[in-house]
Amino acid sequence: MSITQQYADVAAEVERVCLENGRNPEEVRLVAVSKTVDADRVQDAIDGGAVDFGENRPEQIMEKQARYPRARWHFIGNIQSRRIKDIVPCAHLIHSVFKEDHMRKISAAAESIGKVQDILIEVNVSGELSKGGIEPDQLRDMLRASADLPGVRVCGLMTMAPQGDLELASKCFADLRELKESTDPLCRELGIAPLSELSMGMSEDWRCAIAQGATIVRIGRAIFSDSFAG
Ligand SMILES: *Cc1c(COP(=O)(O)O)cnc(C)c1O
Repeated sequence: MSITQQYADVAAEVERVCLENGRNPEEVRLVAVSKTVDADRVQDAIDGGAVDFGENRPEQIMEKQARYPRARWHFIGNIQSRRIKDIVPCAHLIHSVFKEDHMRKISAAAESIGKVQDILIEVNVSGELSKGGIEPDQLRDMLRASADLPGVRVCGLMTMAPQGDLELASKCFADLRELKESTDPLCRELGIAPLSELSMGMSEDWRCAIAQGATIVRIGRAIFSDSFAG
């Protein structure tokens, strides 16, 4: 099957799963994670209706954003301080922020180009050592720090669930939603907008992420691989 068709099929299924779970499909964005394919293939997904794309390497987001500036480019990868100035000009949303120092540098880079950078805080809800993200109890300090940074706006939270166990994944997603909701009073106190986005769910577990309240799903293989069965 072509990438164009696979994107269209996944998008239709996302809509169907939203409706099955009593979610408004307009509240759930599908980010096509194009990190494994070259820039030519991005056009195939655009032909299938894709608007949002995710990349995890600075060189890739720079190259692809320059080539497809009308698409929205999401940075979902590991952040290195020295690459922040490269990422900020091309990122619609940075999903993977979990260090206060990076948040400060993102704010400075954004201010220097007259931008307010939308970001998500990555949270390690599963506690797996291999995963990035703050501990849930560090979120309050991150939000407090963000309130003093004019160049960033924290829009919500992101997580990655352990692979291979959908029940455990579901629990992680529910935990992230509860964590988000728990910050409402703090956001009011800090005078910042309540967190609205939950970026959670990948090729294997996006259905249960939508059931648990995801507003953004990040799907790579189910769109771009010709051998993903799921
Ligand atoms: C690669 C990646 C995805 C997409 O994963 P698939 O399993 O290919 O759907 C989503 N989020 C992040 C952070 C990734 O690195």
